[in-house]
Parts: sequence; structure tokens; C-alpha cells
Amino acid sequence: NAADVSAGDTLIDLSDVAFGYTAANVVEDVSLSVDAGEYVAVVGPNGSGKSTLMKLMLGLLRPDTGEARLFGEPSHAFDDGSRIGYVAQHASASKEMPITVREVVKMGRFPHVGFGFLSGADWDIVDRSLDTVGMSAFADRRVTKLSGGQRQRAFIARALAGEADLLVLDEPTVGVDAESVDAFYDLLETLNDAGITIVLIEHDLGAVIDHAERVVCLNKAVYFDGPTAEFAESDALSRAFGAATGVLRESQ
Ligand code: ADP
Repeated sequence: NAADVSAGDTLIDLSDVAFGYTAANVVEDVSLSVDAGEYVAVVGPNGSGKSTLMKLMLGLLRPDTGEARLFGEPSHAFDDGSRIGYVAQHASASKEMPITVREVVKMGRFPHVGFGFLSGADWDIVDRSLDTVGMSAFADRRVTKLSGGQRQRAFIARALAGEADLLVLDEPTVGVDAESVDAFYDLLETLNDAGITIVLIEHDLGAVIDHAERVVCLNKAVYFDGPTAEFAESDALSRAFGAATGVLRESQ
């Protein structure tokens, strides 16, 4: 699949998008696009519409007005899920089946093998994906027995096994112990260097400023969209976060 995507292709495209769960809009006037190879962080205070925006991008919600496109198709009609790796906010282990890490990663191959069995080449991809995220040693461990950071890595490996072009992560380091967080961001950087496009919803502004190349700062509407270094210098942060700007200082 990665072969289908060239640098600079537009993977996500929102134009004049507005959405409300009720009569009131929680996302308004949003136009933005994400091109192949980018590493974009979406930041904003609690309740500012970040998760809603992500669902609009992925076609899990449909805009009330405006248009959302994914890989060039209307997002709601896009159906090649293997091209997208979605890493949710710490998935609750108790709700997951007691399957092993390798079995989770193997699922990433299912869209490629139909109802068939995995070939040797498929298993090689599974093993390589485990290796890339540093989880080879935990391949036979049940996902319910993993730490938060290990679990997130397992789900990234599943996306890699599916040959995803786009990785979308919703606050992936919530519940991950502090010493694993840096290594987790290093992994994202490695994947981005390898050509995977990353959209990261993140509350930790310090991490965003250290790692992402581009920031979209949201509070219903877009307050800032541009290079991370410019964001750190701009007043968008205080305008979007209001009194909550202290989080930047705390997290640095
Ligand atoms: P964030 O991810 O930035 O915290 P959300 O996108 O989750 O923000 O929420 C934006 C707004 O939409 C909030 O006011 C939230 O209460 C509201 N909201 C989110 N999900 C729903 C839902 N399923 N039904 C009704 N309101 C919702």
C-alpha cells in the first residue's frame, strides 16, 4: 500500500467543516489538509473538539456542512481500513480478548489475506513489525498482561503489519509510565522517517513541541496551523487555551 502513496499526496482533506452533536457546533469553520509524510499534532483544551475532528477525518462522523476526504475519497465512504492505523487512548485491557501480542499483530494482515491463511511472507511482516516497535520479546505475552506503553506498541505493530500509510493516535501516552514516553515518541519519529504519516492528538504540549513538525491548535475553530517552532512563539496558545496556558510550562 505504501507504494500507492507518494510524498506530497493529500491523505486528509477537510474543507469548511462544521459539526455538532446537538444544535451547537463543536467543530466550526475547519479547513485543513494533511499530506503524505507529515507529522501533525492536534492540540487544544479539553472539550475543544480534538476527538470529534479526528472522527470527522476518519469518516466515523459526517460533517453537517463542508466536506471531509480521506485518501481522495469522501471520508465516510472510504473503506480500506488497512491503510490507517488507529491507536486509541489507552485501550482498556479488561475488555480485550486474552490473545497474545503476536495474534494482535497478525490481525493487521487479515485485510491482505482475505479469508486465507497467512503465508510465510505474511508472518515475516508480522515479525518485522514486532521488531520495529521493540516487542519481539513480548510476542507470546497476552495483551492483558502488558504495560500501557507496551500495549500501544502492540497496536502500532498491528498497523505496521497492515502496511498502514497513516497512523492516527488519540492521546497515546495517557497512562504510559514517564520513562516509556520518550521512547514512544522516538518510535513515532522513526516511523515518520520511514514515510508513515502521523496525526497525533496530544494534551502534552511539551511533547508536541519536542516532536511534531506541524501543530494544529483547535478550540472549535482552528487557532493556529503551521510549523511547531512558530506555534511555540505565537499567541495562538494563550488565545485557544485561555487561562490554561500553564500546562505548557508544566509539561516542559
Ligand atoms: P476533545 O477531544 O478536545 O476533548 P471532544 O471532541 O471529545 O473534545 O468534544 C468536543 C465537545 O463535544 C465537548 O463539548 C463534548 O462534551 C462534546 N461531545 C463529544 N462527544 C459527544 C457525544 N457523543 N455526544 C454529545 N456531545 C459530545
